[in-house]
Amino acid sequence: MALLVQSQHHSSLGDYERILHLGGGVRDLRAEAETLMPRLQGRRIFMINSTAQGGGVAELLPGLIGLMRDLGIDANWLVMQADDPAFFTLTKRLHNLIHGHGDGDLGNGERGLYERVSRDVAAAVKAHLSPGDVLVVHDPQPMGAGAMLRREMDITAIWRCHIGLDDETQETRAAWSFLEEWALPYDHSVFTAPEYIPRCLAGRATVIRPSIDPLSDKNRDLSVRKIVGILANGGLIRTSSPIVTEVYPQIAERLQADGSWGPATEPEDFGLLFRPIITQISRWDRLKGYLPLMQAFVAMKKRLKEDGDAWPAERRRPLELARLVLAGPDPASVTDDPEGLEALDEIRAAYCGLAPDVQRAIAVISLPMASKRHNALLVNALQRCSDVVVQNSLQEGFGLTVTEAMWKHAAILGSSAAGLRQQIRPDLDGCLIKNPQDPHEIALALTDLLQDQERREAFGSNAQRRVHTDFLVFSHIRSWLRVIASTLEGRYA
Ligand code: UDP
Repeated sequence: MALLVQSQHHSSLGDYERILHLGGGVRDLRAEAETLMPRLQGRRIFMINSTAQGGGVAELLPGLIGLMRDLGIDANWLVMQADDPAFFTLTKRLHNLIHGHGDGDLGNGERGLYERVSRDVAAAVKAHLSPGDVLVVHDPQPMGAGAMLRREMDITAIWRCHIGLDDETQETRAAWSFLEEWALPYDHSVFTAPEYIPRCLAGRATVIRPSIDPLSDKNRDLSVRKIVGILANGGLIRTSSPIVTEVYPQIAERLQADGSWGPATEPEDFGLLFRPIITQISRWDRLKGYLPLMQAFVAMKKRLKEDGDAWPAERRRPLELARLVLAGPDPASVTDDPEGLEALDEIRAAYCGLAPDVQRAIAVISLPMASKRHNALLVNALQRCSDVVVQNSLQEGFGLTVTEAMWKHAAILGSSAAGLRQQIRPDLDGCLIKNPQDPHEIALALTDLLQDQERREAFGSNAQRRVHTDFLVFSHIRSWLRVIASTLEGRYA
């Protein structure tokens, strides 16, 4: 099956233009679109990926497609569906291999499965396509289907890969030798960094950086009262004050000492509005490095207990009061991701093994996913309450969570994963940890950041500026229009 997703984008180009600091980006986009539109020859564009919600790609597409439509382009979004869970286990494996992790022993069984499901998906997508259309296929899941359609139909097809490693390993070689036959039929491909382009696509790929939408619910400005309202509506803080908006039908939950999920304000409100807050928000995934981050926070508190009495109050207090928030999607919404549930179970087991006082200082939060809007607003509010936003990924293709937090002036502590290095200029926009699996190194970096407010504020200002210049949706669309126009003209052939 392939579902056509209706446009979920609420802002028009005019809405952005009304905001002075975004107007320049829109004007440049309009000007470039005017020269590129004739080269697109009125073609329809279909983007296809594997999920309408959860993860970076689903985050990007509504803004990209919504604004392309606003420019007058017939842009559409399809989401592939496959009944066989083994298919997604395989594509997750390929995803991990492209990031240099996992078992690269892929044989005929895997090839047969990938081909069979791709054929079904291709048949479903075909019903939406006509000759002349442009198909943009995101990541490995729908890649096989796109390749088959490119062979069968008179369409133009571009493969967009959001993942990658800046190194060639046995694992990455295994993934690309599996995917090569499906990559080659495409007219062109797009990667997030030049280092990610595999040998088989050398000379046939363009680099486009992802972006964020500054007016989406995830990223738009929020007044203090709105932040407080969202946190209260979503169950993340207690309040005795009446609030204009209503409590969300589904609210956040917090992992309790016995490993069950309970209200996020039990056993007590964890002080989002008052305490120094360190946050990581991601999908539950081992590659996101939640566990070593938790261990680092525990190590930081332990050192405080041992040495803190000798420190002056201004160095001791931020560490004493600090809380760690580890947030991710409601596990009930990711039942199709067994590996994600395993990663969450590991976090649960580690949390249950901690001493009660340390447990109270850590909030493992499940964010409601039933409403995309409520989830986005909660992520937005949480990032805005954070003194330090961490992304301790072992590997990361780009890491939109970091772009989102940089946009909100947060001080970032990132790992040196390739995607994060493209965004965070060390000691300008944030700090980079060399080894995301070394709790000691992370604990020292956290301590330094928590104790140095001026440094955090400088990082936050620089980071916001960096996103404004390099990672907003307007320049992203311009890059796409250029690549599509050049592909249609056969310039990459
Ligand atoms: N995200 C979310 N709710 C959650 C957890 C994550 O909306 O509970 C979003 C997050 O804000 C970001 C995206 O999911 O926009 C994750 O993208 P990223 O590029 O960081 O990682 P990916 O999931 O693509 O590996």
